[in-house]
Amino acid sequence: MSTPSPHTAAAAHTLAQLMGAILKGGIRVVDLTAPLEPATPTIQLPPQFRPSKPFSLEEISRYDSRGPAWYWNNFACGEHTGTHFDAPVHWVTGKDYPNNATHNIPVERFIGPACVIDVARQTTEDPDFLLTQAVVEDWERRHGRIPAHAWVLVRTDWSKRSGAKAMLNIGPDGPHSPGFHPQCVPFLARERDILGVGVETIGTDAGQAAGFEPMFPCHTIMHGSNKFGLASLMNLDQLPPTGALVIAPPLKIVNGSGSPLRVLALVPV
Ligand code: MN
Repeated sequence: MSTPSPHTAAAAHTLAQLMGAILKGGIRVVDLTAPLEPATPTIQLPPQFRPSKPFSLEEISRYDSRGPAWYWNNFACGEHTGTHFDAPVHWVTGKDYPNNATHNIPVERFIGPACVIDVARQTTEDPDFLLTQAVVEDWERRHGRIPAHAWVLVRTDWSKRSGAKAMLNIGPDGPHSPGFHPQCVPFLARERDILGVGVETIGTDAGQAAGFEPMFPCHTIMHGSNKFGLASLMNLDQLPPTGALVIAPPLKIVNGSGSPLRVLALVPV
């Protein structure tokens, strides 16, 4: 092998320092993923639309006559089940971008700095709370401008609700859960050029967003801007407002619109 360039040597040193800090302290790895099991809540669409399968496991063998030395399962679920990634191709507004599906999005776009906006107090008082541009700008006055290529994660503490009923929070007039104000989404997608948003609810749009203008503004505008979504995150209360790095690569499903995934945050301690 030829002698590495000074640039490569510096990068190798950076990676060695990173690994050292993960193993010996200095950087904590926080799992932002909810457990994936049959009880995992899945989005409920109006009856005229085709529903998504909930998560299920079917045992193939477990060290028995079906396979004496091995345990494994088949599993089934919709792509948008549990902690999951929304690719731009998920929405009609994002369908024509190149490299817009789970198998062909450039992989460096799965890793970005996290800007964590804490609106847990507001969503406790109002389950229909919508994140506005004013709230984001107030956050920026305290923590600095959201950089391009950032994951914007919205802490609502919604993931602390237990069970599908409390998570979905469906009333006579449909689901009630927090989300984004329609005018906030173009601000984040276009004026801040983020990677995408991450939320604790089962989808990136508010429970009542079917009635917004535009309908489902986060899906419509975020994917229409070639950006991503992360839903059903947890442990956002363990992240600082800035300084964490989020790693969120979906499964490499060919032409996938999204997938369940493991989301990790590297957090300075
Ligand atoms: Mn989704």
